[in-house]
Amino acid sequence: MGGHPALDLVNTVTPRLRDGAAEHDYLTSPAELLDWSRRIGLIDLRDHSAIEGTWRSAPELAAKALGATLEIREATYDVLAPRAAGAVVAIDGVKRSQGSAFERLMLRWSAAAARSMLIPGADRERGVAELVVGTSPAQLIPDRLVVAAVELVRTVELRQLRACPVDDGGCGWLFLDRSRNGSRRWCAMEDCGTRAKIRKLGERRRATAVPQS
Ligand SMILES: [Zn+2]
Repeated sequence: MGGHPALDLVNTVTPRLRDGAAEHDYLTSPAELLDWSRRIGLIDLRDHSAIEGTWRSAPELAAKALGATLEIREATYDVLAPRAAGAVVAIDGVKRSQGSAFERLMLRWSAAAARSMLIPGADRERGVAELVVGTSPAQLIPDRLVVAAVELVRTVELRQLRACPVDDGGCGWLFLDRSRNGSRRWCAMEDCGTRAKIRKLGERRRATAVPQS
C-alpha cells in the first residue's frame, strides 16, 4: 500500500492521527508480526518457519522482536512524517523529538548490521558479494525492517512522499506518489478517497437543503 516495506510498517497503525484519538494497531502480538511480514514479502516461507520455531522455544525473543519492530515503526514515522505533504503532525502529538528518532533508528540499524553477513555473490552482472540481512531468526524481522527504513530515509524522493490527508477525512498513512503528474492524494482511492467524496456530497446536500420551519 505504501510503496515501500518501511511505509507499510508505518501504516500498521490506523488512522495515523497523533492527537490522542483512538488508533487501531495491527501489530499487537508476535504472531501478527510474523503473518504481516510474510504478507508484505519481507520474509519467505523458510524464514517464516525458522522464526516461528525460534520464537516458540524462546517467547522472550519474540517479545523483544515485536518491541524492536514497534520502536522502528514509530521512529520511522517521526523521521518521515514532518516531511510528507498533507501530514498532520501535531506538535504535542509527537511524543519524541525527530533527533532522538534518528538516534533510535541508528541504534537499531547498527545492531542489524552486526547480525548481517557479506557472502560471495552468485554469477551476476553487478557486484561480487551479497549482503544478507538477518542471520539470526529471532531478530530477522526487525533487522530487515530497520535496514529498509534507513534505505528509505536516505533515498526517498521528497516530492513523492505524502500522507493521506487527515483534514479531509483521510487516515494519515504515508505513501509514495509515483503517478507521473503527482496527483495521488489518498492512500487508496476506493477507501479514504471515496469516504471523503461521500462526505463532501452530504455537506453539499445539507447546504442546499430547504430549511424546515
Ligand atoms: Zn487513507
